[in-house]
Amino acid sequence: MALPKFLIRTLRPYIILLVIGMIYAAYQQLNKSEHIAYQQSYSNLKTGSELIFSQVEAASSKLYLLDDTSSVSEFDSIAKRILKHTPTYSDIIYVNRETNQYRSALLNSTDAEKNPDITWRPLDGIAEHLAVSSIYQKTPKEWVFAVKYTQDNANEIWLEFDLKYTTQSLRGLRTLNEGYVFVVDSTTGRLAFHPDPNRIGTPSVSYHAGISEQINHGLLFGKYEYYYKGQFKMSVYDGDNPYKWVFISGTDRSDILSSSYQFSLTAIVIASLLFLAIVINYLTYQLNTSLAELNNKEELVDFKHNLREILDRFCHHKGVQLCFYDADYGHFTTVDYHGNTNIILRDRNLAKHFSPSSLSYTGKRYADPLAKKLQINSRHYTIPLFDKESLIGVIYMKATFPTYRSILRMIRDYSEVALTNLLLHKKLRSKDVMTHLDNKLTLREKLDKHIDKEDVYLAIVDIDHFKRVNDSLGHLVGDQVIIHTADLMKKCFPKPNSLSVARFGGEEFCVLFRANDENDAYEQCEMFRHLVEQSKLICDDVPVQYTVSIGITLNRDSQHISIGRADKALYQAKGLGRNQVVLNTFQA
Ligand code: GH3
Ligand code: MG
Ligand code: MG
Repeated sequence: MALPKFLIRTLRPYIILLVIGMIYAAYQQLNKSEHIAYQQSYSNLKTGSELIFSQVEAASSKLYLLDDTSSVSEFDSIAKRILKHTPTYSDIIYVNRETNQYRSALLNSTDAEKNPDITWRPLDGIAEHLAVSSIYQKTPKEWVFAVKYTQDNANEIWLEFDLKYTTQSLRGLRTLNEGYVFVVDSTTGRLAFHPDPNRIGTPSVSYHAGISEQINHGLLFGKYEYYYKGQFKMSVYDGDNPYKWVFISGTDRSDILSSSYQFSLTAIVIASLLFLAIVINYLTYQLNTSLAELNNKEELVDFKHNLREILDRFCHHKGVQLCFYDADYGHFTTVDYHGNTNIILRDRNLAKHFSPSSLSYTGKRYADPLAKKLQINSRHYTIPLFDKESLIGVIYMKATFPTYRSILRMIRDYSEVALTNLLLHKKLRSKDVMTHLDNKLTLREKLDKHIDKEDVYLAIVDIDHFKRVNDSLGHLVGDQVIIHTADLMKKCFPKPNSLSVARFGGEEFCVLFRANDENDAYEQCEMFRHLVEQSKLICDDVPVQYTVSIGITLNRDSQHISIGRADKALYQAKGLGRNQVVLNTFQA
C-alpha cells in the first residue's frame, strides 16, 4: 500500500486508540487518587480521635489528683498549678451539689457552667465517674467542653478544655492538597474543631447536609458524598465514640482530579490534540475554500483582487504586487484597480531567470529588476507562477519576517492552476479554434482599441474561388488551404507590428497592422499576396495552387466604417480580376 494511503487509513484509528489509552490510564490514576484520598481520610479520622482521647485520658489523671485533695486551699493550689502549666485547659470548676454552688479555681464567672443545655456523656467503658460535656460557650470568644469527675459525695470537679488549644493538633491532618479534618458535636450540631479557629462553635452546614441524618439512622461510621458551596465533596466520618463527636475528613472532588497528575496531563494533551486538529482543519478548510474561489475568476483584475484578499487573510505581509508575463511580447504587466494593464518591464532574460516551483525570500539588496521597478524596497518573497514551463506571472510579497512556506506553496500551486485556466479561457474566447488566429470578437476589440491611430491599417484577405477548391479537391483540402493561409499570414505579419491577425469567417481573414504610410501598408500586403501565389501547398500528394485578394484601408472613424471601406477595396480587387491588392485611399 502506498505510504500516504497507509497513513490516511491508520491515522484515525491510531488517534482513537491513543485517546482511549490515555483516558483509560487517566481513569486508573483517578481511581488510585480517589483510593488514596479515602485512605488518607480514614487514617486522619483515626489519628484525630486518638489525639483527642489521649488528651481526655491525660485529664482524668489530673481529676483524680484533685479528688485526692483534703482541703480547699490544697485543691485551689493544685488546680492553679495545673492550669498554669497546661494551656489546653481553660478552667477548673468545683460544683457543690448540696448547695448547688459553682466555684472557679481562677475565680471566673461560672454563668456558662450553669447553662441547663449542657449535656453529659458518661465515659463508663473508659473510666468510672467520668463524663464529657457537650460544647458550650464560656465567654463570647471561648468555646469549651468539660470532663467531669463525680465524687462519692456527688460533688463534681470539672476540667474545662479550651477548644482552640485542644484541637490545635488536628490542624496538620490533611487529605490530598485541599482536604482537612473537622469535628462536629452531634448534640449541638456545632463545630468542635475546624482548621479556621473562627468557625469553632458555629453550626456546621456540611454536617447537616446529610451526615447528621446518617448518624440519626444509626450509621455511626461511613462514607458520604455531598454538594456544598458549588463543590462536590467526598468525605468519611466517624461518630462512634462516647463524646458523641463526629469526626469528618474528606476533600473536594476537584482536589482528587487535580491531584491526579496523569489525569490532568491527559486532559491537557487531549484538549491540545483536539484544539490542534480543529485549528488545522479550520485553516485547511478556509484556505481551500478561499483558493477554490480563484478558479471562478474570468478577468485578471478579479484574479488579482482575490489573490490579494487570500494573502491578506493568511499571511503577515507589508504589501503585495502581482505581475503578469506575456511570453509573446516579453512584457511584464500590472493590472490596475479598474482592469487597465500597464507594461512595467520588457525583459525576456529576466523571465528566463525564474524557475518553476521556486519560492525565495530575499533582502532588498538582492531584489530583481522587476522588483526594483515595482519599488519593492524591503525583504520580500518572490513567487513565480508557471504554466508548465512558461512563466505567466510573479507575486512579490513584502514581509519583515519569514512566513509559513507550506501555506505560500499552497497559494502558489492554486494560483498557477487558476491563472493558467483563466488565460486559457481568455484565449479560447478570443481565438479561432481551427487556425489559432484571433476571432472576430477579438478583432473588433482591437479595432476599437486602435481606432484613429495614425499608422494603423486594416486589410481584409479573401481566398479567390475558394468554392472551386472545395468542389474539386474536397472540404478537407479546403480546410488545409485555410490553415495554410493563416500560417502564412502569421509569418508575414509578425508582432509587434501586427496588432491582430484574425479569421473573419469562412475563407476571409483580417490583419490589423502598423505601417509607416499607405505605400508601406500596400507593400506589406502585396508581399503577402505574392507569398500565397508562390506558395507550394501539397495536399495528399496533389499540389494546390491558389491566390488571395486583399482590400486595405486606414483604421479610422469606427470599426464598422473601417470594415466597410476595406470590404469595398476587396470587392474592387475581385472586380479587377482577383489576386490583387487594392488600397482604399482615405480622404479626411
Ligand atoms: P470569390 O473568389 O468570389 O471569393 O469566390 P469564392 O468561391 O471564394 O467565394 P464564396 O463566398 O462564394 O465561397 C466561399 C466558400 O467557402 C463557401 C463555403 O462553402 C466555403 N467555406 C466556408 N468556410 C469553410 C471552411 O471552414 N472549410 C471549407 N473547406 N470551406 C469553407
Ligand atoms: Mg468570401
Ligand atoms: Mg473567396
